[in-house]
Amino acid sequence: MQTVYKIDSERMYERIMTLADIGKTVQDGVKRVALSKEDKEAQILVTKWMEQAGMTVSHDHFGNLIGRKEGISSSSSLPSIVIGSHIDSVRNGGRFDGIIGVIAGIEIVQVIHDAELSHEHPLEVVAFCEEEGSRFNDGLFGSRGMVGRIDQSHLKLKDENGVTRYEALQSFGFDIDPDRIAESVRTAKDIKLYLEMHIEQGPYLDSNDYPVGIVKGIAGPSWYNIKLEGEAGHAGTVPMSLRKDPVAGAAEIISEVERLCTQDPNAETVGTVGRVKVLPGGSNVIPSSVEFSLDLRDIDLTRRNRIYQQILDKIQNVSFSRNLSFNVEKYMAIDPVYCSDEIIQLFNEISEEKEMNAPIMISGAGHDAMLLAEITDVGMIFVRCAKGISHQPNEHAEKADIALGTELLLEAVLRSM
Ligand SMILES: [Zn+2]
Repeated sequence: MQTVYKIDSERMYERIMTLADIGKTVQDGVKRVALSKEDKEAQILVTKWMEQAGMTVSHDHFGNLIGRKEGISSSSSLPSIVIGSHIDSVRNGGRFDGIIGVIAGIEIVQVIHDAELSHEHPLEVVAFCEEEGSRFNDGLFGSRGMVGRIDQSHLKLKDENGVTRYEALQSFGFDIDPDRIAESVRTAKDIKLYLEMHIEQGPYLDSNDYPVGIVKGIAGPSWYNIKLEGEAGHAGTVPMSLRKDPVAGAAEIISEVERLCTQDPNAETVGTVGRVKVLPGGSNVIPSSVEFSLDLRDIDLTRRNRIYQQILDKIQNVSFSRNLSFNVEKYMAIDPVYCSDEIIQLFNEISEEKEMNAPIMISGAGHDAMLLAEITDVGMIFVRCAKGISHQPNEHAEKADIALGTELLLEAVLRSM
């Protein structure tokens, strides 16, 4: 007969609410940007909880907070099972984003510690530094660091007060030394698998009435800046036939983005133009130029590339027919990431045994797991959040749903350790 180990969902929820008080905003949201006074206060608290769960706590030189519980002594050189997420927030964010993953990790280690279960592989819980990018505008910092994707240029970035990330890391305490980041890079040898639980931040689970979901992959984002130039003129005197209006051209292109991303209703492609800047910007002036962003994401890289090419063709055609010049600049493109089939299978088995009915789904948002996938097998669980609302004060997840997700994660850890 198998023993059932119980998590304490009350304790978890209480901890989530306690953390939410650190950096609480007037709108009842949370502002806890990376390496701030509030972040430090939160880390001291999380450290205490990690220690209560039997972990030894330290920081690496990227500012990642790491709790570690060694495996049975003869095998201390074995790679770790890492459970992680983040406790920094956007500037007026919610109480659950990131937090539930770290709290779940601590809870799982606490259960294992209290039951005195022996495990071969070390267990680690990580709160990654600056996942949100709300201080240095450069998110997923800690997880990128851990997999060796951070260099000096990322340390030179400045916040709104002119403080560099280097200075922020150096003055944060906990023996963090930004001159020694190379020592904190980890490889496939160090980590057996990485697990993360996160709120969905989208409406799929909520609208289909599922409390938790199993993530099969994370859509790859790509960001572009597009500029069209025409000719300014008087809105009253220049006849329509003689105009070179870049905004009218942009309107055609933006409609095409939407059309291309909706033509296959079963495809997970999403395209967004979230920023448009018109110059000179007078209501009675034909614009001289327009600049707009394009955020294009998909779980299928071939499809994303094809749609991007179609958007590019449209930009060329519109510019030619309207006599505009154009420029397209690529900011960033990350390939989609797939979670480990074995872990998906394991989550699915547990979900069936426990009648959790968790669907297998994709993540439209990026997460630390996306980076860890470069060096190890990753698995991710989503917890339903009300109406899919996130990065806002009214972000909400139910205690029971968080508990269910944590049970799923706990069982997966018990079968892997
Ligand atoms: Zn998050």
